[in-house]
Amino acid sequence: MAERTFSIIKPDATRRNLTGKVNAVIEDAGLRIVAQRRIQMTRAQAEKFYEIHKERPFFGELVDFMISAPVVVQVLEGDNAVARYRDVMGATNPANAADGTIRKLYAESVGENSVHGSDSADNAAIEIVQFFKPEEIVG
Ligand code: GDP
Repeated sequence: MAERTFSIIKPDATRRNLTGKVNAVIEDAGLRIVAQRRIQMTRAQAEKFYEIHKERPFFGELVDFMISAPVVVQVLEGDNAVARYRDVMGATNPANAADGTIRKLYAESVGENSVHGSDSADNAAIEIVQFFKPEEIVG
C-alpha cells in the first residue's frame, strides 16, 4: 500500500555533505522523495518535534544537536514507506545497525545518527504537517 513517511537528514550528515549520498540510499530502496527542503530548525521547532522525549536525559543534548546546523526535511512515498524507511535507516545506535543501512554507512553515534524517520503512519502524518503544506508535497 502506498504510504508516506517523514524524514530528516540530521546536522551531522548535512555538515559532512552527505545529503546526496543519503538520498541515493533512500531512492535505491524504492522510496520517492515527494517533498524536500533544507532548513535551519528553531529551538521551538526542535523541542516540539521531540516533545515525546522531553523527560529523557538526552533531551537537551538532542535539541542542541538538531539546531546545530541545517537539516533537510523530507516526505518519502512508497509501498509500506514507514517500515521500509525504518529498515533503510538501521538501528538507532549505528553500532547495532545492519550493513547497508544509512546509520551503518554514515552515522557517528547514537545521538548523531544522520537520519530521523517516523515510527508509525499516525506519527508520520503528525510530523509532516509540522514542516510541509499539502501543496508542497507532489507525489
Ligand atoms: P529513532 O526512532 O531510531 O530515531 O530513536 P528514538 O526515537 O529512540 O530516539 C530519537 C532520537 O534521540 C535518536 O534518533 C537520537 O538522535 C536521539 N537519541 C536516542 N538515544 C540517545 C542517547 O542515548 N543519547 C543522545 N545524545 N541522543 C539519543
